[in-house]
Amino acid sequence: MTRVASGASVLVTGGAGYIGAHTAQALSARGYRPVVFDNLSSGFREATRWGELVEGDIRDPAALRRAMQTHGVEAVIHFAGLIEVGRSVASPDLFWEVNVAGTTSLLTAMREHGVARLVFSSSAAVYGQAGIGPLETIPEAARKAPSSPYGDTKLACEWMISAQCRAYGLSAVALRYFNAAGADPSGIIGEAHEPETHLIPLAIAAGLGDGKPLTIFGDDFDTPDGTCLRDYIHVNDLAAAHIAALEVDLAACAFEAVNIGTGQGRSVREVVQAVARALGRPVPHATGPRRAGDPTSLVADPTRARELLGWEPACSSLDEIVRDALRWEGQPAYGAGSRSARKI
Ligand code: NAD
Repeated sequence: MTRVASGASVLVTGGAGYIGAHTAQALSARGYRPVVFDNLSSGFREATRWGELVEGDIRDPAALRRAMQTHGVEAVIHFAGLIEVGRSVASPDLFWEVNVAGTTSLLTAMREHGVARLVFSSSAAVYGQAGIGPLETIPEAARKAPSSPYGDTKLACEWMISAQCRAYGLSAVALRYFNAAGADPSGIIGEAHEPETHLIPLAIAAGLGDGKPLTIFGDDFDTPDGTCLRDYIHVNDLAAAHIAALEVDLAACAFEAVNIGTGQGRSVREVVQAVARALGRPVPHATGPRRAGDPTSLVADPTRARELLGWEPACSSLDEIVRDALRWEGQPAYGAGSRSARKI
């Protein structure tokens, strides 16, 4: 059995990004030594407040090896990659190069440096149109039918990691996140994607009169209010899932893929209403056509996370997520929104 002990040095690729920064904070609070490895292509230096920042690209195994050696790295949490679904449709080659070849390069460096535990950011995008009924939750064994090159790269990474675990004795957990949302309640780190494509920050921007009116993509889905259902998970609950995945006892060669979600579907309209409630004013919105490839419903069956990792969400009610997102979006410390210095 292998596990990572508190105090260990953990390489956090993509640790200057949204989920990585929250996880670096959680690692530090738990007594680990996070070392952020990031090329700052979409991350922020200001978000790396916990542990050292090593600037580098995951496609450069020599730079990864140096970072592992210098900091005595014992485990890796791998967030780094490209995340915009639309961009993956326009530039699939880039996504395969960064997400898949970048992960190969990381695995090579881990092997050469004798790092035997990996936690990987996978995604509910591996399921795509999973062939599950509209109101059913998705178990890990569901059919994998990614509907974008982004989802393809996440599934390809899972396959490659799993094969390398078997071949080289690593142990790895791929966490299939559903919709990451919210921000640390301190307001010092939060979501800052450019461009922002996620619903909650867009709804807040629309409500603050700071962005375009929100477009709801389709209101004729087979759901109670006609809009899509998604499973929103607070970013700090997600961070806690990474710690649990780092600490779980796993045999050498073991590969586990685990859903991280709440099991509760929330419709786009419910989210818009929650944002309006938190703001105390309406969120201007219009309904547009469906987006190609948007599944009706993506809601996790989180049983495996509970059983294997002992993990359950602690702060992922929609109102908590929106409250914390609003604290951040009202006055973000970095990112595009900070330049316009919005105020609630
Ligand atoms: P993000 O863009 O905020 O963070 C990604 C980080 O990776 C950034 O700091 C960026 O600078 C870094 N990076 C990108 N390419 C790199 C490279 N070649 N070398 C080194 N660093 C590089 O994104 P996020 O929302 O924090 O997502 C983190 C991970 O979680 C991604 O792998 C994403 O696919 C996955 N994920 C996110 C969500 C979500 O809802 N945000 C859902 C499912 C999965």
